[in-house]
Amino acid sequence: MLDFHKNSKTRLTELGEFNLINHLTSQFSIKQASSLLGIGDDAAILKPNKPIVVSTDLLIEGIHFDLAYMPLMHLGYKSVMVNLSDIYAMNAKATQITVSIACSNRFTVEALEDLYAGIHKACELYGVDLVGGDTTSSIKGLQISVTAIGEANEEKIAKRSGAHENDLLVVSGDLGGAFMGLQVLKRENEVFKVNPNNQPDLSEYTYIIERQLKPEARKDIPELLEKLEVVPTSMIDISDGLSSEILHICNASKVGVSLYEEKLPLDPTVISSCEEFNLDSTTVVLNGGEDYELLFTVKQEDYPKIKANPSLSVIGHMTKQDQGCHLITRANQSIPLKARGWNALEDED
Ligand code: ADP
Ligand code: MG
Repeated sequence: MLDFHKNSKTRLTELGEFNLINHLTSQFSIKQASSLLGIGDDAAILKPNKPIVVSTDLLIEGIHFDLAYMPLMHLGYKSVMVNLSDIYAMNAKATQITVSIACSNRFTVEALEDLYAGIHKACELYGVDLVGGDTTSSIKGLQISVTAIGEANEEKIAKRSGAHENDLLVVSGDLGGAFMGLQVLKRENEVFKVNPNNQPDLSEYTYIIERQLKPEARKDIPELLEKLEVVPTSMIDISDGLSSEILHICNASKVGVSLYEEKLPLDPTVISSCEEFNLDSTTVVLNGGEDYELLFTVKQEDYPKIKANPSLSVIGHMTKQDQGCHLITRANQSIPLKARGWNALEDED
């Protein structure tokens, strides 16, 4: 066994590509019956019994993550979550991933070990197999691409395009936490730059910081819907903010929507941090990102099956397309929904 930790700064060139891949992936094992062959050959071999769904994301340092406040282990974990979330958003079961990385010589073997520790934890907890990837160098920074593969029952696959007028709009969990967690982390990073000895007590922000650094993909929601015998008519995961995701469903399904402000699920920590940062919590929910909850529509007749579930909130209903897409405020005003992602909100403050 190689022991790199005696010297915690092992340069990547000391290992070479093959040793590095072996070293990083040796702890991974294959668990899915559909994975016939994993890492080590020119290609993995998969033998699924059902239709497969495939999704890829590319994450670039400085654009999608900042290592100043994102520990590498969390980054590894989150890179997998972001992709699994897309598989669950098809109402499918995630089974395999591939992970490709490009990194500059600023990264050490130990840094990549941390990244892969996070990837490993995600694979263990979510029961997916790492079956391949690619490793290369970059001129600057770290880039990670994860491809996730899943299996679905064809008649239960939920696309963005299946919503109908009068369907109920439902969301899992609560919203706005990841954005507010990022605000706290950014603020602390600025404080740290001025005074590196400052040891802030962030315990009151634990929930929202975890929502930002350690999001969990909602594996449980397709399982729950299966148990409740509910097939969503459409589904999407919330990566960019509620508003733009709702508009994706409306556009793909050719329907309108009435979304009710009073129904938006908020954690108390989101409410208190919004007050502290002088942000409107509804704006944060609509335009903030990275909550990785699932947004879906169900037929009205399914309402009794979902209404008492603590993981699910009915937040609106679909209308005819020509009625448009509106937020109905607590004051009963109707405001058109706009697609403004994460960056638009950043520009505002
Ligand atoms: P090739 O030259 O055929 O692309 P590689 O040397 O890149 O082969 O990869 C060898 C094996 O290691 C393959 O099975 C590949 O999928 C796997 N692999 C390479 N890089 C990674 C990585 N970063 N994570 C997981 N598996 C990887
Ligand atoms: Mg390769």
